[in-house]
Amino acid sequence: MDDRMFRTAMGKFATGVTVIASEVEGQVHGMTANAFMSVSLDPKLILISIDKKARMNEVVKQSNQFTVNILSGDQKEMSMIFAGQIKENKNIEFDTFEGLPVIENSLVSLACNVYQAHEAGDHTLYIGEVINLNVQDGEPLAFYEGKYMQMT
Ligand code: FAD
Repeated sequence: MDDRMFRTAMGKFATGVTVIASEVEGQVHGMTANAFMSVSLDPKLILISIDKKARMNEVVKQSNQFTVNILSGDQKEMSMIFAGQIKENKNIEFDTFEGLPVIENSLVSLACNVYQAHEAGDHTLYIGEVINLNVQDGEPLAFYEGKYMQMT
């Protein structure tokens, strides 16, 4: 099994798309992520997986807090910006929720404290305890076989 085959296999798992956001010393940093899942109802826990080489990993380690913003179908550009797929510098306005940066008009924004962090190969798994959340109506942005998709 080579890396390409592993990536191809994992790409067969259709997901939504999130932007993880956090702030250190007044600097907000965002990163697109689809490695996200719900973990526990009591306490309310979620999990994200961040590449150890990503700048986001250092930011979350330092701030010990982050938000997960589940993107809606019309937020593909946001995903591309925070995945580095759109190169030109865009000035993104973040809203603030529970003192943390969130992406405006996301379907869901979860404000989390880091509950546990586990090293797993070349990624760090962050389990977040959800301290509050916001939900809006709408359709999600989806990702499948390396391509963005709309549900409708
Ligand atoms: P950078 O590459 O420096 O930043 C990412 C981009 O966000 C840059 O273009 C930067 O300019 C922009 N940016 C950051 N903060 C701001 C701001 N405040 N204002 C304006 N622009 C800003 N990687 C994972 O580790 N885990 C995953 O689960 C994951 N899932 C992914 C899912 C999808 C659908 C895609 C497309 C990519 C995914 N990636 C994932 C890859 C990851 O999004 C990229 O590798 C990303 O570039 C890594 O970000 P970074 O923290 O290293 O920072």
